[in-house]
Amino acid sequence: MTTIVLATTYEVEDCLHCGFLFGLPEGFVRRRRRDHKSFYCPSCQGGMRYSAKSDIELVREKLRRKTECCDFYTKRTATLVGEVEHERAVARGYKGLAVKRQKALQAAKGENGATHES
Ligand SMILES: [Zn+2]
Repeated sequence: MTTIVLATTYEVEDCLHCGFLFGLPEGFVRRRRRDHKSFYCPSCQGGMRYSAKSDIELVREKLRRKTECCDFYTKRTATLVGEVEHERAVARGYKGLAVKRQKALQAAKGENGATHES
């Protein structure tokens, strides 16, 4: 005599239509939670399905949100870098203008200084 021992885990489900309790293999439940396909009550043949988001869908959604957030901050960083470059260019312009005016002022003082010193 040969004895075969099978270990299968079942999840107990209760029918939405008639309340009948029945077991479903956990692999079947996992697949139905992910693909949202219908299955039927063995007693009343009422259709049922898992409509809640699966673990994979939740992870994909979280990844999508994180990617959008990362994209936003990447674009924002590029914008800020551009603004900083612009402000640096403006500062260089003012610095050049200040040097130019200082030279003009020194030239004017030199002419005036020459008259004052002499
Ligand atoms: Zn039923």
